Amino acid sequence: PGPVSAPHSLGILQLRRDHLIPAVLAPTDDTSYAEGKVENTRFGSFPHTTLLNQPWGSQILASVVDTGSRSSRSKKRKREAGDAGDETRGAKEEGSNGLVRAATASSGFAHLVPPTPETWTLCLPHRTQVVYTPDYSYVLQRLRVRPGDHLIEAGAGSGSFTHAAVRAVFNGYPSNPSSINGSGVSSRKNKRRTGGVYSYEYHAPRAEQLRTELQDHGLDNLVTVTHRDVYADGFNLPSPDAPCADAIFLDLPAPWLALKHLTRSPPTASALKSLSDTASGTPTTPTSSDAPLQTTPQPFRSPLNPHAAIRICTFSPCIEQVTKTVAALRSFGWLEISMVEIQHRRLEVRRERVGLQEEGLRGANPSAATVTEAVQRLRDVEDRAKVFHGLQKEKQEEVMRRAEAVEGEGKTGKKVDVPPSRMDRLERARRDAEKRELFKEGRLVHRTEPEIKTHTSYLVFAVLPREWKAEDEERAAKRWG
Ligand code: SAM
Repeated sequence: PGPVSAPHSLGILQLRRDHLIPAVLAPTDDTSYAEGKVENTRFGSFPHTTLLNQPWGSQILASVVDTGSRSSRSKKRKREAGDAGDETRGAKEEGSNGLVRAATASSGFAHLVPPTPETWTLCLPHRTQVVYTPDYSYVLQRLRVRPGDHLIEAGAGSGSFTHAAVRAVFNGYPSNPSSINGSGVSSRKNKRRTGGVYSYEYHAPRAEQLRTELQDHGLDNLVTVTHRDVYADGFNLPSPDAPCADAIFLDLPAPWLALKHLTRSPPTASALKSLSDTASGTPTTPTSSDAPLQTTPQPFRSPLNPHAAIRICTFSPCIEQVTKTVAALRSFGWLEISMVEIQHRRLEVRRERVGLQEEGLRGANPSAATVTEAVQRLRDVEDRAKVFHGLQKEKQEEVMRRAEAVEGEGKTGKKVDVPPSRMDRLERARRDAEKRELFKEGRLVHRTEPEIKTHTSYLVFAVLPREWKAEDEERAAKRWG
């Protein structure tokens, strides 16, 4: 997105760590709003004019407060906003669009962060369950998606995975999308392929909204969104060069039903039969009332890249679906089938205050630790003084004690307990000092953050080897001898 925010481009306002809102930035001369476009948030209001031409990561002060309705809901919001910044104080004047303009500067703020797949995933409008960052980063890595690859994605849903796929395939969002050729598809003869993301969605309004979002984000040249029931109609597109897929991600209720379209040659009758045995009892058509156009049956054409091994991943919430998918993958010749469950946990690591008398300090009254800590610090100082100034005295005493002990043993013939040596005492003092350090700094502890966003699903991976015909063998023999 360039070094600074620009008009007509997407910016993300970060209000808290996991609270982000998207905004396509309006130019200053936008006349569609009486007072210019404004993002009203619980932490104050942010006119787009204050968001333009800002280096990404800038802290933006709220300059307008949305107290338009003065409803109890807005009052409640302001109360909740206490931890991010106070609401604007000072005289206010009412604007023509119901906003109340603050006459003094506000102390509410947000950070303007650049649009990335990660930030978009945290703030996109949800139409469906989405694939979150911990899952899609693992999936794209396991699918070995790299710039120039063609990737099939179905269903597109809310477009969370789509955005991550675009970055993987195009190696960063292009600053000038028009530099990418029309559909994002290049000729097979062209050795350096332009990447491509091909997204299929059964639900017409979802497909339409994704198109609009991609346009708003300047990515519409890079993604081909197709409104289609992929169980029935597969993945082929009018151009013979598309999708020509290297990698496939299926986030569908019944991925096994789409697999018959992801073969290199027409599926055999036995494979189709085993699929229908596997699928018995599962609905074959989506239940949406918004039925997509049915296409007439076409002669078989593979949507896969004939010159590459194809990697696939399916994303299913329950193990029964995994079993069906694995059975279908086997029938259609996929190899290296494996299943993974992502159990992503973020660990919060911090220091926890502990006392020398640990249990006592962590009792019912936490403030007790503070008093005890102060007392302990005083003791520390005294102890150190003892350690450093008493060393000489201790040394002398120790010599005396040892001499007396040896003398006593000689006289009585009985073993006399020798008091701890100076080294023992120093060692004990060192251990005590360590304990005191621990007490001051706190013990290092960790705990998991339960609220991290990911949704538990099983990921099935497989590979379809590249086709190898007699002419491939001949060509290889000529080339390599
Ligand atoms: N991966 C998406 C994301 O990250 O935002 C979420 C996908 S959502 C869980 C599943 C989508 O599959 C839904 O939008 C649904 O309409 C779509 N779908 C279901 N059956 C389909 C079919 N036969 N063909 C195409 N899309 C289908």
